[in-house]
Amino acid sequence: MPVSKPSQAFTDAEILRLARPGIQALKPYVPGRSIEDVRAQYNPKRIVKLGSNENPLGANPNVLKAVAKAMPRVSLYPDGSNREVRKALAAAYKVNPEQVMVGNGSDEVLLMLALAFVKPGERVIVSENTFSEYEFSGRVLDGKIVKVPLRNFRYDLTGFEKTLKLKPKMMFLCNPNNPTGNHFTHKELESLLRKAPRQCLVVVDEAYADYSTAKDFPHCLELMKRYPNLIVSRTFSKLYGLAGLRLGYGIGDAAIIRETLRVKTPFNLNLLVQTAALTALKDKAFVRRSLSVNQKGKKQLEAGFKKLGLFFLPTEANFICFRVPRPAVELCEDLMKRGMIMRPLKSFGLPDWCRVTIGTAEQNRFFLQELKSVL
Ligand SMILES: *Cc1c(COP(=O)(O)O)cnc(C)c1O
Repeated sequence: MPVSKPSQAFTDAEILRLARPGIQALKPYVPGRSIEDVRAQYNPKRIVKLGSNENPLGANPNVLKAVAKAMPRVSLYPDGSNREVRKALAAAYKVNPEQVMVGNGSDEVLLMLALAFVKPGERVIVSENTFSEYEFSGRVLDGKIVKVPLRNFRYDLTGFEKTLKLKPKMMFLCNPNNPTGNHFTHKELESLLRKAPRQCLVVVDEAYADYSTAKDFPHCLELMKRYPNLIVSRTFSKLYGLAGLRLGYGIGDAAIIRETLRVKTPFNLNLLVQTAALTALKDKAFVRRSLSVNQKGKKQLEAGFKKLGLFFLPTEANFICFRVPRPAVELCEDLMKRGMIMRPLKSFGLPDWCRVTIGTAEQNRFFLQELKSVL
């Protein structure tokens, strides 16, 4: 095959004229550092990754068995309507399968919602210091992003309420918030929903809701009965330990889900993850174990932070956000040299803060020990 000469390659100026102007404002997602990356760069004796809020127990052995059994079928197309997974999720949440959509990670669920509903120029409301995919999704088709600052490091739902005069099309809320780990309450959310018109879609990303033990945590499925503009998304990436296989889901009004599915690609869930999901949902013991490790680890880390004199935010999730006395990017780099991966929060707009995933007792011990030496 002839290799194209450099003179035939597109120039920067030319490609800018070809591409849709709006996409220039899209910032690529900043992922946490990978184990391979740290090994190649520093080659430490051991590596503990508590940087991306993955399940510290690793993959569920029962899910691995089911996936291995499905492997010979990978020459076949998966079910493009994702019927079994939607049915299983509907049963788990006691809703209709028509109210459930699934995506290649909840990232895709959020993106599909924006692609289906946000018209160019319509306002999309997001919070500052939160997961970046809301802004990304809102911008993809030239929606206009409006940002609401946090208040005392918490989501400010009154601030969201004040944006209603801009007639927003969509609001993205993260509960508990990544990276602060705290939650907004049922009452706060209901108060916002009471004031929001039906034409404003309120998307609540509950990626970490399974971990919350707060009594006043919102019951979105209850609220949905009165507020059909409420949509909730969740994921298998954290509690179910399936981040690498990619599966997220959204629950909402059947008509909203039906319209959203118009922008779905034909086979958005692969064959392996469809099998994995069905097994993962049934394995209550793995979920219980994961939650228990998280609760114990939370206490261990909080005690550790107190001992080190570090300010941290109370968490309802599987990670803790804490302030450090020097630039967090540097500090995380120093930790990485020692094999400890955690997340500096500069890309979340919090340059003096770090986020660490709650690990197993042994991982947490290693983390606290290494943190102490680099402080
Ligand atoms: C991890 C995370 C998700 C999950 O994303 P997937 O695409 O399902 O892996 C969603 N929202 C937030 C806030 C997260 O931190």
